[in-house]
Amino acid sequence: MRRRGRTVKLRDVTAEPLRLIDHHCHGATTGDLDRTGFEALATESDRPPPAGCSTLDSQLGFALRRWCAPVLGLPPHVDGDAYLARRRELGAAEANRLLLRAAEVDAYLVDTGFNGARLLGPAEMASAAGTAAHEVVRLETVAEEQGEVTAEGFAEAYAESLARATARAVGVKSIVAYRHGLDFDPRRPTRREVVEAAGRWLRDGRPRIADPVLLRHLLWAGVDRGLPVQLHTGFGDPDLDLARCDPALLTGFLRATRDSGVPIMLLHCYPFHRQAGYLAQAFPHVYVDAGLALNHVGARAAAVLAESLELAPFHKVLYSSDAYGLAELHQLGAVLFRRAFAEVTGAWVRDGHWSAGDAARAGELIGSGNARRVYGLD
Ligand SMILES: [Zn+2]
Repeated sequence: MRRRGRTVKLRDVTAEPLRLIDHHCHGATTGDLDRTGFEALATESDRPPPAGCSTLDSQLGFALRRWCAPVLGLPPHVDGDAYLARRRELGAAEANRLLLRAAEVDAYLVDTGFNGARLLGPAEMASAAGTAAHEVVRLETVAEEQGEVTAEGFAEAYAESLARATARAVGVKSIVAYRHGLDFDPRRPTRREVVEAAGRWLRDGRPRIADPVLLRHLLWAGVDRGLPVQLHTGFGDPDLDLARCDPALLTGFLRATRDSGVPIMLLHCYPFHRQAGYLAQAFPHVYVDAGLALNHVGARAAAVLAESLELAPFHKVLYSSDAYGLAELHQLGAVLFRRAFAEVTGAWVRDGHWSAGDAARAGELIGSGNARRVYGLD
């Protein structure tokens, strides 16, 4: 293929890092982590491993020791204790800086809705990484952080709160998968249903919103806001019920929003990434990523990425790390994605299925071009 006026082989092109925009991640933690704290952020489990065992004995742990250790000046595969000792010696701020910069990501889209106070916000991520960062606002958090509100005035108050909270945001995010499941009634709730549900919520002392009517109202208000709507789908921490996180359960909602002009971004998707790929092909406004999964499957990243490139058109697939807390995960996501993409598409080029030019073009779209276009980052 041609690049900068000279003919180069695909191998040379993959030596240059594929440009990436991480369209869904969280902030890196500002705290210095002990072994327990570090391991807790390297798993989706909310409980420690059995006595004498380590969370790092996993695909993610092995990949982290392989690819993050050199960024901190250690040999690849260094053991967990030596890694943690080096991390403490550098301090959290310097470890974050080194790892976020090593990721060589053009922009981070940061979900600020969960444990935001203990994590770097978008501006701090931008300065630590030396790159751009944008905010994605969580719909449920905005509702729960509203001031005084009445049942009758809930819908208007929420629309105003959301408009204020998203004034500079590039997208919104729903965690209806966690709070209820994706098997919700896809209809927009009626005004009367919203007033009744808000009344129940207020009488109960404003708990975490789990009422399906209110959750649907927040989601539809997110659609009305007009920004891309990210939806958690697939695996995550044990707060969710995996069987109810299959994105295919969203089919009714996708039909109902098909003509809204609002992009629906299906996050993570694993192990339902093939269902998600179908939805991305079938619905003009549906986009998918394999974020989170690539970090967790480590050495199997190429296999999962290849499956996520089966049915989804290449203008519908995005890169994300879904990194949370550990800057290692921002960096690892980028390394594993770039390696997996080069391995998978390199084999298709070698076998004569794809041209090198097509592989480079798909890489540009999936790595950063689709995110730029859908979120309007230019
Ligand atoms: Zn996330």
